Parts: sequence; structure tokens; C-alpha cells
Amino acid sequence: MQYRSTRGSIDDTLNAPQAIIKGLADDGGLLVPVKFPSSSLPIEKLPKMTYQQIVQLILNLFFDDFTSEQLQKGIEQAYGEQWDNQQITPISNHHSNNYYLELFHGPTLAFKDIALQILPHLMTSAVTIEQISNKIIILTATSGDTGTAAMRGFSNQSGTQVIVFYPHGGVSPVQLKQMLGQRGNNLTAIAIEGNFDDAQTEVKRIFNDTTFNQQLQQNGYQFSSANSMNIGRLIPQIAYYFSAYGQLVDKGKINVGDALNFAVPTGNFGDILAGYYAKKLGLPINKLICASDENNVLTDFFKTGKYNRQRQFYLTNSPAMDILVSSNLERLLFDLAGNNAELISEYMDQLAQEGHYQVNSVIKAQLDRQFAAGFATQDQVVQEIHQVYKADGYLIDPHTAVASFVTKQYQASHSDKTPTVIVSTASPYKFPETVYKAITEQAVSTPGLTAIHDLQKVVQQPLSNNVQALFEQSIRTEQVIQPAKMEKTISKLLASTY
Ligand SMILES: *Cc1c(COP(=O)(O)O)cnc(C)c1O
Repeated sequence: MQYRSTRGSIDDTLNAPQAIIKGLADDGGLLVPVKFPSSSLPIEKLPKMTYQQIVQLILNLFFDDFTSEQLQKGIEQAYGEQWDNQQITPISNHHSNNYYLELFHGPTLAFKDIALQILPHLMTSAVTIEQISNKIIILTATSGDTGTAAMRGFSNQSGTQVIVFYPHGGVSPVQLKQMLGQRGNNLTAIAIEGNFDDAQTEVKRIFNDTTFNQQLQQNGYQFSSANSMNIGRLIPQIAYYFSAYGQLVDKGKINVGDALNFAVPTGNFGDILAGYYAKKLGLPINKLICASDENNVLTDFFKTGKYNRQRQFYLTNSPAMDILVSSNLERLLFDLAGNNAELISEYMDQLAQEGHYQVNSVIKAQLDRQFAAGFATQDQVVQEIHQVYKADGYLIDPHTAVASFVTKQYQASHSDKTPTVIVSTASPYKFPETVYKAITEQAVSTPGLTAIHDLQKVVQQPLSNNVQALFEQSIRTEQVIQPAKMEKTISKLLASTY
């Protein structure tokens, strides 16, 4: 299978290993299959398949330049003992017609692990296939979850070096502990004096600094990225949509062929796009419900067809969704526009220059047919956590609560009776202060990691191994630099390993 840019010519193609190493196309577009696989997956066999078998089927389709053995070995290592639940993405049982698909049983307690446990194996195989002798530098700016999951995934992976920049004082206590506590001979996390955007802007500049890149080449290094625009992160995420379907058939909740809705807490649009790809591969999905927090640029977009990033930015209690430019939306629009790269380039130019664009009526009609959208305020998030706990004794995190709230709002205002899967993207223990306050209406005794114990005392359930591990790591001291020093810091770091 060949990949091309959403903004480029159909004649400029890369194979899957090249696309994974490259991350983003040179023209700024996103890499997508030239021709989407036409075979649909065997829905009736899903209930008896393991998670690992489902992933293998999907990766074989999209990443056919890898050998089956390479993929299988990567899958075994990615979805093994480090998960707290051997089903990998179990569905939580509830009395209602809504189900919670738990994507947070991995080592860093959020759904990024699904992709970032496998990406390092794909990257290493890609380097072998392409016969690249350079060491791969994974350069990442993070607001929290991606950095921790990337460090954990790439820890001690030969031929790779991970450098993460995060905003000083801008990540949660759990995330900070995870980054400073993660062991590995190839990992560095450095705080910058600034916010996430400052880190991101400087990382992008460094990626495009030709002189610096040449210098790296001469010393046997090259950059790659682990952000959610990398096709190597997106494709493995298709698997949990199929897994969810198989589990519900297996439990007798639906019959083979019945449709499901999926409600997805959305930031950069990677998670929900994987759902759209699952639908294209034949999974019976009625609506994909795009759930946003107060940064509701996507809610407005689905309503009006106009994407307008010119608006106030809010820091909310669902930080992983605090985003105004949802990069992966470009892949959806490309597909709905019938692979029209010129049109997509036009939209993206308008977005860059004027801060907004309006999709045409053909695309808008498709969006209406396949998607629903809504948002939750921070207060509504707190109420939803409270209400779900009161009704079911079930703890959900603030991101999941956004999707849970939006689902109920949608169901109250539409006659749609389709069973709905709420995609649960983080463990409640990753955001213990918000969750504790929501269910007890009191603040935790002391802020920080101890909030986990406060929460546990209320719910009286044992902590999973991956939550417990947070208390067992000793941490390195934090290094803080100015954003302007990022490039120099990278040079120094690499020079010490030349
Ligand atoms: C990253 C993240 C999201 C948003 O996912 P996208 O793929 O960026 O839409 C939602 N919830 C949590 C907990 C996350 O870490």
C-alpha cells in the first residue's frame, strides 16, 4: 500500500515504512492511503478473536511492506503483560443502552498507550526495511499524555532517542511523575518556561531547520515524530472499534450486523478518525458522535460547516482536549472530498491565513449523515462524573465525562435508539483531584499524587498495578530551560552520545 499527502500530487507516494518514519508530508499535509483497502473485515468472526488478532488483521491490510512476522512480534510486545486487563480494551457493563469502552489499562493510564506501545516496534522495523543507519530522534512537544506515553513506549528501544518538551507547571502531578520517573537509557524530558504552544512552535521550527537537520545527518541522526498525525499511530487505533463490536456481540447485547454509535472525546481528531476508518472497513456504525469541551470549535464546525479557529482558548478540566486546530480533521475532509488535494490545500491555506474556512455543500451533507457533535462545559463534566458514580458506582475521568454528557444530550434530543459506545480515554486515577471533588463535593486533603488515595478511600476498590506503579518510581530532578534554548539543548544532548 502506498501513501500520499492530503495536499499533494497522487504521483508522490511513499510506502508504509517511509510514511511512518516521515510522520508529516513535506508540503505540510497528512499522509493517507492512495487507495483505501476495499476488503471488509469478517464481522461475524470478531467475538472469538483476541485483541491481538484484530490488530494483526488491520495492520496486515495497511502496512503490507512489513512482514507478517515483524507485525506479529511488535503486536505481542505492544499488547502484553504491561496492560492491567488482558482484554486490552474491555467494555464496562452497564444497565443502560450505553457502554464504556475502557482504553486506559495501559502503562500510562490513557488511550495514547494503544498507539504508542506499538509505534516504537513499527518504527524499528521501518528503519530495518528502509536500511536506515541513522539513529531516529523522536522529538515531541507535549501537554502531558503524549510525552508520557511516548517515553514509556520507546524506553530502551534500540536505534531511537526520545526528547520531550513540556510546559513548566503546565502538566498534572501524575503526568509529571510519569515523565520524571520513567526509566530508559534513551529518554529525556525537559520543561520549558512557557505554555504548550511555545513548545510546539519551537519543535516545528526545529523540524524545519535545514541547517540543523544537515548537521544531525552528518552525525548519524534524523528526526521523526510520535504525534498523532503519524499514520503509525492512527491505524492501530482502528482495532478497538472492532474489538468493542465483537465484545458486545459476544455478550449478547447486539447481533452481528446491528449498528452502533460511538461517542468520542475529541482533541486532535485522531481517535474519532480511527472510528471513521473502521466504518469504511465495513464496521456497522450509525453515528460517530464528536464530543468537545469548552474549546468547541468542532461542535460549531459540524453544525455550520465553517471551521473557525479565531476564538478564545480555554484551559479546562479535560486538558488533553484543549485544542483549537484539530489536525486529523484534514484526513476526514480529504476522504469526503473524494481525495481532492487541491480543495484541501485551499481550505488549509485559508485556515493558516485567515483563521477559518467553509466546506462545500457536498462535504457538509456527508458530515450531517455520518456525524453528530456536541460539547460539555467544565461544570457539566463535574455533574456527569457525579451522576454516573451515583447511578452506577462507576468512576469516569473528565475526558470520558465529556463524551458521556454529550451522548445523553444527543439521546435526549434525537429519536436515535442505536446502542452507543462511549470511548473512555483516561483512567479516573489520572485526574484524581477533579474526580474526587466531583463525587464528594469536597477538595482533596492535599493536592498531588496523594489524591489517588483519597479517591480510593471513597470507592473502596483496589488500585490496578499501573496506578500503583506511580508510587514506586523515584524521580529525576526537573530541568527547566527557555524555549529559545531548545535547539542548543538537543545538540548538547546528542553530542554527549556521539
Ligand atoms: C489525546 C487525548 C484525547 C483526544 O484524542 P484525539 O485523538 O487527539 O482526538 C482525549 N482524551 C485523552 C485522555 C487524551 O489523552
